[in-house]
Amino acid sequence: MKKTRVRFAPSPTGPLHMGGVRTALYNYLIAKKNGGDFILRIEDTDSHRFVPGTEEYIIESLRWCGIVPDEGLDASGKLAEVADERNPHAPYRQSQRRAIYRKYAEQLVESGNAYYAFDSAEELEKARADAESAGQTFIYNASTRGGLKNSLTLPAEEVQKLLAERTDWTVRFCMPSDEMVEMDDKIRGHIEVNTSTLDDKVLWKRADELPTYHLANIVDDHLMEISDVIRGEEWLPSLPLHYLLYKAFGWERPHFAHLPLLLKPVGNGKLSKRDGDKMGFPVFPLKWTAPDGTVSRGYREDGYFPDAFVNLLAMLGWNPGTEQELFSMDELVQAFSLEKVGRSGAKFNPEKAKWFNKEYLRKRSDAELAALWMPELASHGVSASEDMVREVVALIKERATFVSDFWGIAWYLFQAPEEYVEKDVTKFWKAENVAMAREALQATASALEMEEYIRAREWPMGKVMNCIRLAFTGSGSGLGIADIMRFIGREEALLRFHRAEERLL
Ligand code: GLU
Repeated sequence: MKKTRVRFAPSPTGPLHMGGVRTALYNYLIAKKNGGDFILRIEDTDSHRFVPGTEEYIIESLRWCGIVPDEGLDASGKLAEVADERNPHAPYRQSQRRAIYRKYAEQLVESGNAYYAFDSAEELEKARADAESAGQTFIYNASTRGGLKNSLTLPAEEVQKLLAERTDWTVRFCMPSDEMVEMDDKIRGHIEVNTSTLDDKVLWKRADELPTYHLANIVDDHLMEISDVIRGEEWLPSLPLHYLLYKAFGWERPHFAHLPLLLKPVGNGKLSKRDGDKMGFPVFPLKWTAPDGTVSRGYREDGYFPDAFVNLLAMLGWNPGTEQELFSMDELVQAFSLEKVGRSGAKFNPEKAKWFNKEYLRKRSDAELAALWMPELASHGVSASEDMVREVVALIKERATFVSDFWGIAWYLFQAPEEYVEKDVTKFWKAENVAMAREALQATASALEMEEYIRAREWPMGKVMNCIRLAFTGSGSGLGIADIMRFIGREEALLRFHRAEERLL
């Protein structure tokens, strides 16, 4: 059997959307499951849409997720430019492979599957406008190419002359007329499309001596021996052309699988960056600062763990068929299959995303979480021992979704409150309860003793405790009194109580 070789082939036209990371992940899982290779290739033949910094962003995003390419990166982690044992197909950046593509474009012209087109931008614009005023849509294919300026309509000498003189010609695919293209997709099943609905796509441009996406993609997938093309549904309309290109070259076709879209949390339609901004969740793996300075939030910077992010992405479109929701990367490799990827779009649920992170936070050791939290504690001027921080983490981690929640949950274990929540003061700080609380605190040495003291006197436990908690935390909510006292100590507890008395009575 042929070795499984899959590729992730993003264009550096902007930061990777979470849908793009999911595509990379599914490719990676299929490669690993089958003992195959996962290849990273950058498709940057459309220079107009190039956005600086995105290639680095893509590489860093994959690295953060633990999606490690078998081919495509050099030892320093950059896109490989020189072929070696590990990267036999380098360079993996299409703009550096331009010398390769022209001969394939010409091969197609020679075999009659493509032709040279000399129509200028203005001429094409006019053809479009003419069709429109006749109530039609212009399409460059068998129905019109006979009346346009190309090597099929012009005399041979004229063609040679134009090829030599002009620098704006293109090579177009000669789409057969009225032919059924029959395709198979691992997710969508059997698909048929009539070629009359398709146009003679530009494959190569003299202007920048570069192929378009379609040609470069097919040539590279062939040269890189790709066995399975797994990509987003937005590429499905290109599939007939890709089938026909493989046929025209006489090459063996890879298998195809088009992944369902990621949909908005509410309503219909594709998940967009604007949904994230509106509803307050990230759509990008990492924070991204666009060349114009606009900043988009990222899962990493929002405090998501990479394994939680990978897990939640895996579940967007794939259904393991069991109740299990938590999967490590290794478990995903075992369990994942394209057969269990649905056809319909996967609705993104930001609350569920948080749930995943909460689960992964709970799974992490107290020591690891403490280490992650230490820098924030230091920024608040807290100098606590690692042991203490670890103990606090053990106490609070069940209540948190992100490490960044820790401070909000437990700051009063490190600092005395400066303010008291007014409505809680009105509710809990009643003179008779304060008197009981004071006596209980002063007369006992520990929280346990204090509770016994209150119980023995049949004082209202809840009311007294709420009073004490208000003094300790500045509000009526927080951890148990015993836990708070364990961390702050009796002396600090008394101090806080007296301070509250001074300020509140
Ligand atoms: N360069 C295309 C993209 O940006 C790749 C599509 C494909 O995988 O064939 O998504």
